[in-house]
Amino acid sequence: MSTPLIELRDIRKSYGGLDTPKVEVVRGISLAIHPGEFVAIVGASGSGKSTLMNILGCLDRPTSGEYLFAGKDVASLDSDELAWLRREAFGFVFQGYHLIASGSAQENVEMPAIYAGTPAAERHARAAALLDRLGLASRTVNRPHQLSGGQQQRVSIARALMNGGHIILADEPTGALDSQSGAEVMTLLDELASQGHVIILITHDREVAARAQRMIEIRDGLLLSDSATEQAPVATAAPGLQAEDLRQRLDRGATQSGAWKGELLEALQAAWRVMWINRFRTALTLLGIVIGVASVVVMLAVGEGSKRQVMAQMAAFGSNILYLSGKSATLRDPAGVISLDDVAALSGLPQVQKIMPVIGNKMMVRQGNNNGQFYVGGNNTYFPEIFNWPVVEGSFFSDADAHSAAAVAVIGQKVRSKLFGPQANPLGQYILIENVPFQVLGVLAGKGASSGSEDSDERIVVPYSAAAIRLFGSRDPEYVTIAAVDSRRVKETEQAIDHLMRKLHHGKQDYELTNDAALIQAEARTQNTLSLMLGSIAAISLLVGGIGVMNIMLMTVRERTREIGIRMATGARQRDILRQFLTEAVLLSMVGGLTGIALALLIGGVLLLAEIAVAFSLGAVLGAFACAVITGVVFGFMPARKAARLDPVKALTSE
Ligand code: ADP
Ligand code: MG
Repeated sequence: MSTPLIELRDIRKSYGGLDTPKVEVVRGISLAIHPGEFVAIVGASGSGKSTLMNILGCLDRPTSGEYLFAGKDVASLDSDELAWLRREAFGFVFQGYHLIASGSAQENVEMPAIYAGTPAAERHARAAALLDRLGLASRTVNRPHQLSGGQQQRVSIARALMNGGHIILADEPTGALDSQSGAEVMTLLDELASQGHVIILITHDREVAARAQRMIEIRDGLLLSDSATEQAPVATAAPGLQAEDLRQRLDRGATQSGAWKGELLEALQAAWRVMWINRFRTALTLLGIVIGVASVVVMLAVGEGSKRQVMAQMAAFGSNILYLSGKSATLRDPAGVISLDDVAALSGLPQVQKIMPVIGNKMMVRQGNNNGQFYVGGNNTYFPEIFNWPVVEGSFFSDADAHSAAAVAVIGQKVRSKLFGPQANPLGQYILIENVPFQVLGVLAGKGASSGSEDSDERIVVPYSAAAIRLFGSRDPEYVTIAAVDSRRVKETEQAIDHLMRKLHHGKQDYELTNDAALIQAEARTQNTLSLMLGSIAAISLLVGGIGVMNIMLMTVRERTREIGIRMATGARQRDILRQFLTEAVLLSMVGGLTGIALALLIGGVLLLAEIAVAFSLGAVLGAFACAVITGVVFGFMPARKAARLDPVKALTSE
């Protein structure tokens, strides 16, 4: 006699124990089922049939007793091997159909093949063929709630056959159906039995059970009768259904993993569907990630933008420029004064190319009916060269003008447009600076640079001497601008100036020397602290976002416990479930990340309209996105693992 496909030896199952009284539901059942048999298990409701079937289908483990599958002790199998049995050897048909509500008929039927790693094309074709064979060709895209009970049960039979369905375990398959649909389902099972499938049919209805070759009756968890107690059945099994054969395949196949591509695609689709169904809840939960990512990206863009602006400004005004101004040597002393004598002495240094004293202030300027507040500066004729700022109309004032303190002026582009309008020629005209008339000699090129509220094109340049005598009544410069001979030797120039100034001021450090490079560094330093601060705010919102993802995943796992059970019953391994929920978490945070980036770009656009410099960097965008995805993995892992570790029967029977 051949090895039985299934052999139970004194199987017992009890529930409760800790807080509830312990009840034994299956009380020592022994039986053997051979290839090719069509067995009906009958018994009244509550007699332990479903419990027995869950044990037979490896959805549940017995409390005691031995279960040999094709001669192999099931207790010795690990979770992957049990999953293999559910996937490749068994096919379940439940009273409540147990279809996945969010999937179409086609998708439900394909699911076992996804976990088996069947290539997509083969999978689609086989599922379509099965649905066609069961008379559902026109219903493939319908979701379970769009199908009648009989149709749903036929979909679940197709699913049970998807990977072969050598042993069909049907628990009250007709229980929820009208007599017509019930008869159809029974005819189907008859057909399958005649094709060599092992059918184990569970029912409380003797009439239904009578269609099987063999009837096993149980009552109160005990075997009452078995129509085939003694004589072994005729082996009608088709090739490939022998016990030995299945066992060899189990030994080989259980460790094989499915095709990750098919699974990933299915997981993504499922995740997307769930997200879409719960879109409002999802959107609210993702706010944390959206805000986190958007703030990181915007902050970095604003930081980079202002840095570039400063750099551009520095480049516009030259990089070999030093500024010398007075400062208090100690807290009690008044600020030191740089005199024109100092300027004369400094101009003799070999490292100094050009030197220009500056005195200036914002002043009221009038021309005809127009007036405005502009910065009026006294400079010398080095102005255009030192600041790399040429005259585009007329000419700059001459050395002779400077010596004679002539009342002449060169005006910036915005001064020109504000006082004269776009057309009128300002050359030779007079403007009143604090009621002193100055004749316009030239117009400066547009700089376009600005720092804070200062606009460099709102500037009027007059000879230093004229400014000192006619406008300010003081001869000492406010500060002195010095151009070094070599922009690469600014440091050395600085030391030479410092040395000479110390001598001129009798060792008193009542002056201050700065340069553009130092300004850039200072700017960069404040930028960095700012970025760090804003970065930590972003990190906190990402953390909040992560907790949101965890929360939504925990909810999802709880809501879809039954779905997880169905997936396990059709052969999903623990890692398949883990992967699916992790995929969902990652997809969730990816959507959050992308939305965050889109929001950041939008804010960037608004800032640009408000003339605030922003510069988006690809690195920042990618970095923020990566952070979002990592958040999803980290915070999604716990709920995903929780789902993967669910007990198949408990998951399946949960509400
Ligand atoms: P049947 O399918 O024959 O109607 P079941 O196998 O579903 O019967 O249940 C048999 C008995 O076991 C019932 O009395 C039921 O109350 C009990 N039972 C089933 N599942 C559980 C459980 N998880 N915890 C406690 N008792 C259970
Ligand atoms: Mg039952």
